[in-house]
Amino acid sequence: MPTNAGNPTPIRERRPQVRPATEGWTQALDADGRPKLQFASPKKGKPPVHWADLTVEERQAKVVELGLPKFRAKQLSNHYFANYSSDPATMTDLPAEGREELVAGLMPPLLTEVRRLETDKGDTIKFLWKLHDGALVESVLMRYTGRITLCISSQAGCGMNCPFCATGQAGLTRNMSTAEIVDQIVRANAALAAGELGGRKKGDNTPDRVSNIVFMGMGEPLANYKRVMDAVRSMVAPQPDGLGMSARGITVSTVGLVPAIKKLADENVPVTFALSLHAPDDQLRDELIPINSRWKVDEALDAAREYFEKTGRRVSIEYALIKDMNDHAWRADLLAEKLLARGKGWVHVNPIPLNPTPGSIWTASEPEVQDEFVRRLNAAGIPTTLRDTRGKEIDGACGQLAAADA
Ligand code: SF4
Repeated sequence: MPTNAGNPTPIRERRPQVRPATEGWTQALDADGRPKLQFASPKKGKPPVHWADLTVEERQAKVVELGLPKFRAKQLSNHYFANYSSDPATMTDLPAEGREELVAGLMPPLLTEVRRLETDKGDTIKFLWKLHDGALVESVLMRYTGRITLCISSQAGCGMNCPFCATGQAGLTRNMSTAEIVDQIVRANAALAAGELGGRKKGDNTPDRVSNIVFMGMGEPLANYKRVMDAVRSMVAPQPDGLGMSARGITVSTVGLVPAIKKLADENVPVTFALSLHAPDDQLRDELIPINSRWKVDEALDAAREYFEKTGRRVSIEYALIKDMNDHAWRADLLAEKLLARGKGWVHVNPIPLNPTPGSIWTASEPEVQDEFVRRLNAAGIPTTLRDTRGKEIDGACGQLAAADA
């Protein structure tokens, strides 16, 4: 195992090792004695079908079925995807008679805003949404110079059971529908159009619409694969049939569902792919990310490399730095070694200081430990950037939320 260069004492012996199990966390097990993971979504709670659930052809068929000419589909899409409106009062190009009923049937309300939290500077808003069945999800809107990022949820709850994550500990309520995923963006764009996100810096002339998406809110996106991919297709479809976003600005992250990573690589939608690794050794990762009991670190990294080979898109490795748990210098060396073993120039690493939970073992690393972790990776030739933690001020629900400035 790598040791600190020039120091005869191995790093492993000089720093404490905190692990979830040694600190009293017990992993929930399934009937076969394996770490409990929930892949299938309960069928209950399905939302009503919404315009954003349909393909362009299905939208046309729908309006024809309702006795309207085909071109009404484009008009409706224009209201929803380009003007971010589901309000019949704004749709004056549609016949007034029956308009309310028409829109109520095609665009039933999916997200009810329960609460919103804003940072002091006003450059970040966290939305808490209630879904039609009462399930709660979140999205976080963040302004940066030159871009506006929205961190979105893909499931209500999560079945991946990561011990550091409140969402994971509460389990999976259900998959979100395609339209529920898309509507988070439409609602954020509506808030932006209304001038509700502050923090614009002088000289920043970026239009006020969401430019970047990160699937790092609630849920494991690749466990809700079909709906997430249908939502991505709506995001990249040109307006008015979709949101007209660039695939490169969309980051799909996973804790490591290897077969789904392979499928994603074959989709021909060049999204940015992020692997939430958080540990380079199976011993710790088995506890930290229970999906590691199905697919090990090397398998996840091989799949990430394959993604790069097939798409030419550089992969991100997300790594939440947790004090004395995964922030050891030897782990930075081991991570660099494993990444370099798969080639150069295909990956960059984003360490993120964990949102600290006071008094718990889930504490952010010391700044000098973070810096050393980053330094070692960069010195080994792996581009590595410490991310800022917008989530910190507003207490993100998912352990990955802090990575949302990707
Ligand atoms: S960290 Fe992400 S994948 Fe893990 S339980 Fe939380 S929401 Fe799920």
